[in-house]
Amino acid sequence: MNCINFVVPMNSCPCGFYPDRSRCSCTKQQIHRYLGRISRPLLDRIDLCVEAARISFEDLRGMGEQNESSEIIRERVERAQEIQKKRFQGSKIFFNSEMSSKQVKEYCFLGEREEELLQKAFKDCHLSARGYQKILKVARTVADMEGSGRIGRKHLYEAVGYRDLQEKYWGKEDAV
Ligand SMILES: [Zn+2]
Repeated sequence: MNCINFVVPMNSCPCGFYPDRSRCSCTKQQIHRYLGRISRPLLDRIDLCVEAARISFEDLRGMGEQNESSEIIRERVERAQEIQKKRFQGSKIFFNSEMSSKQVKEYCFLGEREEELLQKAFKDCHLSARGYQKILKVARTVADMEGSGRIGRKHLYEAVGYRDLQEKYWGKEDAV
């Protein structure tokens, strides 16, 4: 299996408060240098970019009741993996992230409204062909997590959101 799953937790700047400029004391150059430690080729291998909000003690205490337990989340992840295992049975790949463009066409079918939404995101976010494919693959995984055979608009929205975040910190892929 040539697929490596990895998680890169990092601050958004040396002091950790950026983009909250009222608390972040780093210079532009410091932030740029810090984020630059993640190279573009490495960034391309990162499918999901998620911003974790600072959690206060009060939030943490109330968390158990409001949010999904890690047990439930684990079940959803396992279900998504199971779906992918079946989907790619007999092929050389295991995960959605490994799909070729031909496989993306086959497995990431979009309805008319979904297609429209993605076209709009493609224009608004100036996505490259690679960015477009990546969103489809991530949306496929988000749908799998829900056990949904179809990729719906909310799955696409979520996938576009992950993409936006990466651009917020590292800029557009074509710009570098
Ligand atoms: Zn800072």
